[in-house]
Formats: sequence, C-alpha cells, structure tokens
Amino acid sequence: MPPRRPSRGRHRRPKNTGAPVYLTAATLATFAVSGVNVPGAIGASRGSGTVPVAASLGVRPSTQLGAAADELHSRVAEQESVRASRLRATQALAVQRLAEIARKEAQRRAKEARERARPTWVKPILNYRLTAGFGQSSYLWSHAHTGQDFAAPVGTPVRTIGAGRIVSADWDGAYGRKIVVLHPDGTVTWYAHLSAFVRTSGTVQAGDVIGRVGSTGNTTGPHLHFEVRPGDGDPINPLPWLRAHGVRV
Ligand SMILES: [Zn+2]
Repeated sequence: MPPRRPSRGRHRRPKNTGAPVYLTAATLATFAVSGVNVPGAIGASRGSGTVPVAASLGVRPSTQLGAAADELHSRVAEQESVRASRLRATQALAVQRLAEIARKEAQRRAKEARERARPTWVKPILNYRLTAGFGQSSYLWSHAHTGQDFAAPVGTPVRTIGAGRIVSADWDGAYGRKIVVLHPDGTVTWYAHLSAFVRTSGTVQAGDVIGRVGSTGNTTGPHLHFEVRPGDGDPINPLPWLRAHGVRV
C-alpha cells in the first residue's frame, strides 16, 4: 500500500450541476487507494462526464502534477465557457439590430405606400352644411363674400385640402383666427374663424388637421370660412375649384 499524501485542502465544487465533474486530487487518490477504476467511477457517477486530465493521462492524481493538470483543465473549461457566452451575446445583439433595421424599413415602405395612396385634394371638413356661398352679400361683409362657408360645430377638425406649407396662423380681424396654406401649384387656401390652431407652421399633407371650427372674428355662428386664391391673387369660387380638383362637396 503506497503512503497517502496529506490532503492539500482543495475542494473545488462545480457551480453548475450540468457541468462535468472535476474530482479533487484527494478524492481521486481515495479511489486509487480503494482499488476503484477512476475513469469508470466518474463515468458511473455522472453518466457521460468529462474525464479529468490527470485520470485520462494516467497520471497519478495524488501527485502535484495530477492536481495541476486538473486545475489547468478546469481553467481552460471556464475560459471556453466565458468565450462561448460572449459569442452568444454578440450574436443575439446582431440579430436584434437586424430585426430593428428590418422593422424600420417596413415602416418606411408602409409610410410611402400611404402617401402614394393619399388623394391630392380633400374636403376641408368631413361633416358640414354648406351655408354662405362665394359672391353672396350680407350685412356682415363690406364686400361680396370672398369664400365658401362650411357650418359645423365648434371644435370640428379643419383639414388642409392639399399638401403644402403653412405660411401663417394668426388673428386677422373679421376673419378671426386664420390659417393660410401655400400649395406647390401656387394656390393659396385660407381657413378662417377657427376656435383653435392645431398647426401653426411647417409642411402639411392633404387631410392634415390644422385647426378647429369656431366663430372667432365676424360671424353669427360656428363655421369654417374657406377661400381659394390661385397664385396668391384674388379669391375665386371654392366649390367649382374643389370639384374640378376631384373633391366632392
Ligand atoms: Zn365666410
């Protein structure tokens, strides 16, 4: 019987129960002393565990060399595990970024499709009653009526009839709160008597809500006073102009 070396007090325990078992040199020495086949014993206890280097090399695990070999094996396994988890994290991040790029691309295409489908010209109000027409006269006005009135409750959304740019959103005497939109063809549209501005500047698309129906300025009740001024010149009758541009009013 060989003399037993004293235990070196190293009792490493694997943290993950799924990881291969690394028996300490002292434990291996116990197996060796008791005549148990060491690799066989490990295999039996863990099913298909990795055989520690010392045992697989036939190095006597009770020696310092055996303990050092197992220690090295353990460190290499740890480093490999860290490297593998870093690689998984990098791959996951790459997949996440690609998904994000694909999502943004899909959003951009959907927006483009919506804009292509958007009609060029639309009604300034969806639900209304036509009241005073262009050219009518009234005790309220010093001149003939310069626009078309659309009666609707206070707060009804007022929409720009086409794409363009808001050139002003201000109080304008008898017009009350008024928004002026310049369209790419040079036509200018006015939206007056608003109770509120929703937009006061910037570019707009057909149908964008720019304000709310009100009765500010010179009015007898809530309505939108709408004007069309080709080339920013004198106002023309809005209804024939809208109808000629495919808008059913
Ligand atoms: Zn009017």
